[in-house]
Amino acid sequence: MNKIILLLSAACAIMPLFGGCNAPKEEPGTQVIAHRGYWDSEGSAQNSIASLQKAGEIGVYGSEFDVNLTSDSVLVVNHDNDFKGYPVQQTAYSIIKDSLLSNGEKLPTLEEYLQAGKEMPALKMIFELKTDAESPQEAVAIAQSLKMIKEMGMEQQVEFISFSLNACKEFARLMPDNEVAYLGGKYSPKELKEMGITALDYHYSNFQEHPEWVKEAHEFGMKVNVWTVNKEEVIAEMIALGVDYITTDKPEEVAALITDLHLQ
Ligand code: MG
Repeated sequence: MNKIILLLSAACAIMPLFGGCNAPKEEPGTQVIAHRGYWDSEGSAQNSIASLQKAGEIGVYGSEFDVNLTSDSVLVVNHDNDFKGYPVQQTAYSIIKDSLLSNGEKLPTLEEYLQAGKEMPALKMIFELKTDAESPQEAVAIAQSLKMIKEMGMEQQVEFISFSLNACKEFARLMPDNEVAYLGGKYSPKELKEMGITALDYHYSNFQEHPEWVKEAHEFGMKVNVWTVNKEEVIAEMIALGVDYITTDKPEEVAALITDLHLQ
């Protein structure tokens, strides 16, 4: 950890224009999002309800999770379209509903996942839609997800992300008060803003190639998230750039690092 603080201090010294390093303590600065929940912990698994609860327990800003739709239009939380050899979007929910995650939980439905998140209202739920614009299931997934979130009164707890530009545009159009971030890294902040999208959530290599995008996004009033950052050097680099959120598989370590930095 000392090594990374030294790296950060050096980065701050040479990059004052990017801000963040000298921010007053009351400023939120860079915050942490647990990638697929806090799955790298005892009794947890990626996209499990346990991973969501463990993210809530460590007090990070948010917990990211992946949403897919079965062939009979049940929203489930799973990263890959393949689940235990079944392609989720072409499989009925009844066929996969009792299959277990690696921690012994059954495959969570979106409703079960949201219900668990609702118990932790301080934790933002970073909802990634895994459908694509070519599929007729995308419109169904968006409509059903928003209906469920509204019925559960969770509009203020959920933020949306997707590699589907179409999905991002739809979320931004239908939920204008919510953060919506595009994941694909292809567009500048200005281009996204013109499409009505309110935030960027890009792979760190995109910000290494275009470090000016962080400042540009902030000038447009857009938040900047970066995925999936686990290496110390890259964490330091992204904090020095002034990103708003780091999405990581190591949420506790990144949160401790940011705290250490603010205490300096
Ligand atoms: Mg994801």
